[in-house]
Amino acid sequence: MPLFTMVKRALANVTGKPATLMYPATPAKQYDVSRGHIVIAIEDCIFCGNCQRHCVSQAIVVDREARTWEIDRLRCIICGVCAEVCPKDCIFIEPDYHPSSVGPVVELVQGPPAPPKVEKKAKTEE
Ligand code: SF4
Ligand code: SF4
Repeated sequence: MPLFTMVKRALANVTGKPATLMYPATPAKQYDVSRGHIVIAIEDCIFCGNCQRHCVSQAIVVDREARTWEIDRLRCIICGVCAEVCPKDCIFIEPDYHPSSVGPVVELVQGPPAPPKVEKKAKTEE
């Protein structure tokens, strides 16, 4: 690299703005196609487990009995497969990034109680 080019680039780097942002103090830029984090509308979930079976990084655990849905944020690569395969369209990709945290990275979402079972009426003999 010629000396002049190198000096010019060094001066530009010293005097210019930093290329990075002080996230989260400075909010990250968001675009329509930004893949921020996964969210679930738990009230629409039927606990079928499709998202868990298709998750490429095994980040989702669905417990049908306990009616819970959980996601490990460190495992999730925000590929969007779970949102594509959900039959109820209740998983979404929000464009904003999940807030940084020092707490647990596994987020457990409790679903609403199961609807009461309707007992089938015994056939009456005529
Ligand atoms: S695929 Fe959708 S409906 Fe099925 S368990 Fe996952 S979030 Fe719930
Ligand atoms: S976005 Fe991809 S990695 Fe993250 S939970 Fe969904 S399927 Fe798994």
